[in-house]
Amino acid sequence: MSAQFRIGFGCDIHKFSRDRILVLGGIVIPSEFGLEGHSDADVLLHAICDAMLGALALGDIGKHFPNTSDEFKDIDSKILLKHTYELINQNGYELGNIDSTLVMEKPKILPYVQRMKEEIANVLSADINQISIKATTSEKLGFIGREEGAAAYAVVLLTKKEN
Ligand SMILES: [Zn+2]
Repeated sequence: MSAQFRIGFGCDIHKFSRDRILVLGGIVIPSEFGLEGHSDADVLLHAICDAMLGALALGDIGKHFPNTSDEFKDIDSKILLKHTYELINQNGYELGNIDSTLVMEKPKILPYVQRMKEEIANVLSADINQISIKATTSEKLGFIGREEGAAAYAVVLLTKKEN
């Protein structure tokens, strides 16, 4: 690949469960319920990983970290993000910026957004202003409105590394 810029998009959805802790953007958030999944079910980090992989046409998170593998059971998704970004670097690219949106009714995540950005910037050795996290609800409509689950969307711009 030789283009100066590559753009990628990622989307992820997880179902809520009373038996799980809520992990979003790499941090634990106080909540009556968490998200179900093979890993820690960090829906935001999964969308970001998918956007990064998509930018270089490298497949998706399920291809790189199969949910049938014991290796990834309950794994901290920050490790998945780190592995994903190493792959991006090996392919000659680095992060330009990330823009993302979390869609869920509750809990309100705005108070945690700054810490999430810090966690993600730390994993990617990036500057905090390269990471945007927005949050919205679905106005009580659909499965998100019924508080059955959460969704996350992300776009990532990668720039070619200079050698
Ligand atoms: Zn996921």
